[in-house]
Amino acid sequence: MNPVVATQGNKSDAGSQSPGAIFADLHLHTLFSDGTFTPEELAARGGEVGLAAMSLTDHDTVEGCERMAQACHALRIEFIVGTELTAEYEDKEVHLLGYFIDPHNAKLLAEIKKFQAVRQSRIHEMTARLNKMNIPLRAETVFALANCRSPGRPHVARALVQEGLCSSMEEAFERFLKKGRRAWVPKCKISAIDAIALIHQAAGLAVMAHPGLNHCDEIIPSLAGQGMDGLECFHTKHTPKMSKHYLNLAARLNLLVTGGSDCHGYSKGQPLIGGVRLPGIYLQQLKAAHKNRGNQPAVIIGTAS
Ligand code: AMP
Ligand code: ZN
Ligand code: FE
Ligand code: FE
Repeated sequence: MNPVVATQGNKSDAGSQSPGAIFADLHLHTLFSDGTFTPEELAARGGEVGLAAMSLTDHDTVEGCERMAQACHALRIEFIVGTELTAEYEDKEVHLLGYFIDPHNAKLLAEIKKFQAVRQSRIHEMTARLNKMNIPLRAETVFALANCRSPGRPHVARALVQEGLCSSMEEAFERFLKKGRRAWVPKCKISAIDAIALIHQAAGLAVMAHPGLNHCDEIIPSLAGQGMDGLECFHTKHTPKMSKHYLNLAARLNLLVTGGSDCHGYSKGQPLIGGVRLPGIYLQQLKAAHKNRGNQPAVIIGTAS
């Protein structure tokens, strides 16, 4: 197997990996945002599918990182602190992953707190809109189910299913929650430029998540010019052709390459962890870039070696 090609959605490829090959999953969620696994369960799953390194990238929080670091350490899996911020640039929504961020950085934590407050008030607004449509879902029900500081639409969808108001999460998104539907409430987003600066001042690297889902290739060169560090070329929803396209773009723009499954546990059907396996060479490049920034030591807890 070509060492710089990640395997995607074809676990049988894993059988042909050379012994000792290192693979990472750098896009994962737990129940500290809208995933269903605890950090310990997620780390254990990573171990089961043979990952050598993992990053936790919960939406607008770093809260799960300490537990995840400990769980990874116990399993001799390398752990990279991360988060996923929702941002916008030229009216396009982009998700920015922050890697190696200092989870104690005061400015980052203060901003995250604001994003979480917006997420919480958005739940009230979404349930109010549902109530106007005679869908009797209470915000408290969503908060109880979410049980975290970063509630989002998947929690509302799960609550609608739990209360028997929808038969599936897909139905909930399709009828009420997807962009443009009546209970969809836009999130107040940080500008991508500010998000990149926020990640940088917290000693992190800023990477655009799943560019293939955003349909905004035209803004990538300009964000790269403004300091964005990398592109998530490998993602569950990227076809091999899309991954190749973004690998070419990353090479052209001198951007780092990352990849991950975006596993949310059972929140989106079956767990996706193990479906995207980023070859270790890209993680090495990411770590080298972080080190070269003068960010010493790298904020990695529980390194495997
Ligand atoms: P939020 O951050 O609250 O806007 O919610 C975003 C989350 O909802 C992400 O994890 C998405 O993958 C998920 N999501 C967005 N659209 C859909 C959809 N149509 N069906 C299922 N999940 C979705
Ligand atoms: Zn999510
Ligand atoms: Fe995302
Ligand atoms: Fe994600």
